[in-house]
Amino acid sequence: MSSPIALICHGGAGAVARQRHQACLEGAARAAAVGRELLESGASALDVVEAVVRELEVNPQFNAGHGSVLDERGEVLVDASIMSGPDQRAGAVALLRGIANPVSVARRVMEEGRHVFLAGPGAEEFAREAGFEFCDPKSLITPHERERWETMHGTVGAVALDREGRLAAATSTGGVVGKHRGRVGDSPLIGCGNWADSEVAISCTGQGEAFLRTALAKHAAMDYRIDSNVTRTAEAAIQHMGSVTGGEGGLIMVDRKGRIARARNSKQMVVAGFDVDGDVGPEL
Ligand code: ASP
Repeated sequence: MSSPIALICHGGAGAVARQRHQACLEGAARAAAVGRELLESGASALDVVEAVVRELEVNPQFNAGHGSVLDERGEVLVDASIMSGPDQRAGAVALLRGIANPVSVARRVMEEGRHVFLAGPGAEEFAREAGFEFCDPKSLITPHERERWETMHGTVGAVALDREGRLAAATSTGGVVGKHRGRVGDSPLIGCGNWADSEVAISCTGQGEAFLRTALAKHAAMDYRIDSNVTRTAEAAIQHMGSVTGGEGGLIMVDRKGRIARARNSKQMVVAGFDVDGDVGPEL
């Protein structure tokens, strides 16, 4: 018998300006619809989370790929990771310039299998050798980002369960506004901003330093092994991150039974998805 399918994606935690609500909700709904169609046609969870994150990366409403936030020098440097649940293979990249879909470079690092995490010029070299197209780094900067430079907006992520019961997670971000040159947050760090194993898949968003200090994605995965309830696990993890570090953010989660959950202590988090109990969102 085939497994139930489930998916949830996020477009980041933080406060979303009112005039962007509709566009963010529509973007998340569209990405979730792309993932649903793929899952229904039998695609693997890994292909689905990559496709959903790519969809969110090209959408300038979100802080990933096109639309990423600017660092202290006014440049875009992106981070991304992907993880396959059944075998815990993972790939991650950080501090990439001129790459519009970093999640696919992360996927390539994973498929290549020699390393898990590549950063900076070495990661760019890897992407070039693997045949990825580079764009003018300036083309990833939206006029809105240039203007706004100070407000936080959303990283993207997706977690999915496919018909064969396989789980996967992917996360992609431009980081935090005005970040120091060299700063890497939780999003490309396996076990911090992204995790998948045979039981759950998790993607986080928010103040990366807080998720790093609590290794939050792995923390939640371990908690799930005790409680087996995604909603309680997600909420307890965010509560833990908030109480230990004072940080803000949220996470999305799916388990192998086909249940999704989201939890946040930030003002908002854009999410959309579906599970065995029906549709979730799009909501803020
Ligand atoms: N967690 C990301 C980072 O710290 C930012 C975000 O989720 O908005 O790089």
